[in-house]
Parts: sequence; structure tokens; C-alpha cells
Amino acid sequence: MPNFEEHVKINMSIFWLFFLVAIVMSQLENNLTVFAGYIIGTFLLNLDLDTKTDVRNSWGFLAFWWKPYDILVPHRVKGKSRFRDVARGLGHHWLMGPILLICWFLLGMALFYIGASFIRGTIFLNPESIDNTKLVNDIMTPKGYKFLFGIWFANIIHLISDKIK
Ligand SMILES: [Zn+2]
Repeated sequence: MPNFEEHVKINMSIFWLFFLVAIVMSQLENNLTVFAGYIIGTFLLNLDLDTKTDVRNSWGFLAFWWKPYDILVPHRVKGKSRFRDVARGLGHHWLMGPILLICWFLLGMALFYIGASFIRGTIFLNPESIDNTKLVNDIMTPKGYKFLFGIWFANIIHLISDKIK
């Protein structure tokens, strides 16, 4: 399996290929969010966060957040428990892997939001302070979907490189 550096090399080669094609076809502006998602999926929301690789370093001091993630979704199975087998399969599953990463990230964001609201003294549960509809509407746009697609696609390239090497 490629290490982080090799994954970055492969992912970024594919990135520049698509980037140049997008420029040639005048599709760059339309797809900027895909490219942004792809970069995030390569350097931050990378499937190998389930193991102790350099990808954690990209998170700086926030790397601690991914510590429990590798217990929940182990990269390699050392024990013989059935649950761990399943969990490992999910961590590097083409659909569940990226979904689990994004969910774990959103959980962190939610906890941060609750903590920050608490510190700032605003009432977190005040219905007027949370605009769920706006939040959902922001994500459910073509741009939001393209961004998520970019994250997913970067991880698909990751999985293919894992299989090849
Ligand atoms: Zn991997």
C-alpha cells in the first residue's frame, strides 16, 4: 500500500490532469468546487486517517480528533473479532469510507459548535440561533454536491492506488 507521500503524488498527478483538461474545455469555473473537494479529500479527509500515517499531521494540533477514529475503524485487523473485520471493511469501502470520514468530521464540527456556543454564552438550543433549513439548503446545491463529489473522487483514486500497489 502506498504511503501518504505516494498517495499525494498519485492523487495530484490525476488532479493536474483533470485540471488541465478542464482549462482546455473551458470547464474550470464550473468545476472549481470539485477541485476544492478533491484537494480536501487528498490532504485532509483521506481514508488513511484510520491508521497512524502522515495524513494526521495535515490536521496539526487537531490530529487528536482522529485518534479515536482509528479505534472505531481499524486499518488492519489485529484481533479476530468479527466487528473489527466489518469496521475495517467499512473504513476502506468505496462509499462507506468517505461517508464515515465526513460524518466523523461533522461530529467534531458539531461538538466545536456546541462548545463555542457555550463559551460565548449564546443559547445553543434557541431555535432562532440555528437555521437548519439554511444549512441544508447550502449543502443541497450543485456546488455542494460537486464539493462532496470531489472529496469522494479523491478517495476513489486512493482506493485504486491501494489496490494497484
Ligand atoms: Zn489506504
